[in-house]
Amino acid sequence: MNEVEIMKALSTLIEPKLKWNIVSLNLIKKFVFQEGTVHLEIHLVTHNTEEINQFRKQCIEVLQPFGFPVELQIANVHIATHGISGVKEVILVGSGKGGVGKSTIAVNLAKAIANMGKKVGLMDADIYGPSIPMMLGINQQPEVLPDEYLLPVEAHNLQVMSLGLLVPPGKAIAWRGQLASGTIVQFIEKTFWNDLDYLVIDLPPGTGDIQLTIAHKIRAKGIVIVATPQHVVLGDVHRALDLYQEREIPVLSIVENMSGLICENCGHLNQPFGTLQAEFTSEVPHYMTLPLDTDISRTSDAGIPISAENSEHPISQAFQELATHIVSHSSNEIEEKSLMN
Ligand code: ADP
Repeated sequence: MNEVEIMKALSTLIEPKLKWNIVSLNLIKKFVFQEGTVHLEIHLVTHNTEEINQFRKQCIEVLQPFGFPVELQIANVHIATHGISGVKEVILVGSGKGGVGKSTIAVNLAKAIANMGKKVGLMDADIYGPSIPMMLGINQQPEVLPDEYLLPVEAHNLQVMSLGLLVPPGKAIAWRGQLASGTIVQFIEKTFWNDLDYLVIDLPPGTGDIQLTIAHKIRAKGIVIVATPQHVVLGDVHRALDLYQEREIPVLSIVENMSGLICENCGHLNQPFGTLQAEFTSEVPHYMTLPLDTDISRTSDAGIPISAENSEHPISQAFQELATHIVSHSSNEIEEKSLMN
């Protein structure tokens, strides 16, 4: 059996609603050859019975010349009853200020959740400095589907979309206030997320209207707040906690990043700023400290996040622990907590 030829034939099939070929849209969910029969499972966006029947007929027709029996199953792409189409849970990553490692945490958290066997998307919504393409080593423009849907770019087993993929490098995106939040939400909704268990969104820095509007409009399950350990940021973190919790957006974890430096010779953790952990442990269900580590910046600069490069690295293990906490936090638990606040 020539798989390449079969895929070529299948790529002529067009999803009736999106009007794009099913191979590029990644809609073939099962393709196995067993006991002389091809078992094929294809997910479609359309619910129209006539379109589905027509598609089934076309599929059988293109496979007929290969001369083997085909067992074809057609199902629907998961469409959320609320929130974003194709996405089950949305996790936000935010910070009070820029440059604290928010994107680094978003990228590695997404990869760590994907390492658990989940289907994960990563949305870079940082309009002020979209850095995720660089951190994942991608620069290709996303394909534009009919109705102006954008196809995410695949990288490191993640479905990725970034404003940085749409504007030339170095060009600042000068969106403000209402325009920015509306445009970002539209951008997230107009991306063809394909059957995701989790979508991790890297928010613009700050805790203002833009962040809260996004969190509400897309019905996020919760947020991870990234901060550095200096006492001057205490006020920022408290403000962020109050803002999100008041508005029933649960804070899932605080990540204290750049929290000291481990001595390469003796392994001692040197924390010139101390840690803010004691301030927040009773307020949030999870608190994580992450030291400054050259492996983090080196891998980010090289376009391969540390959680992808070496899952055994202590930093990757820390991200895995954060991912496990977030995944095991069931929706019910999160909703109960938000009602209590
Ligand atoms: P933000 O998204 O908050 O602006 P980034 O994630 O872009 O911040 O991080 C800024 C820079 O700091 C990047 O070069 C990144 O590689 C580096 N960085 C982030 N966290 C760490 C860390 N714990 N150790 C070393 N470098 C880090």
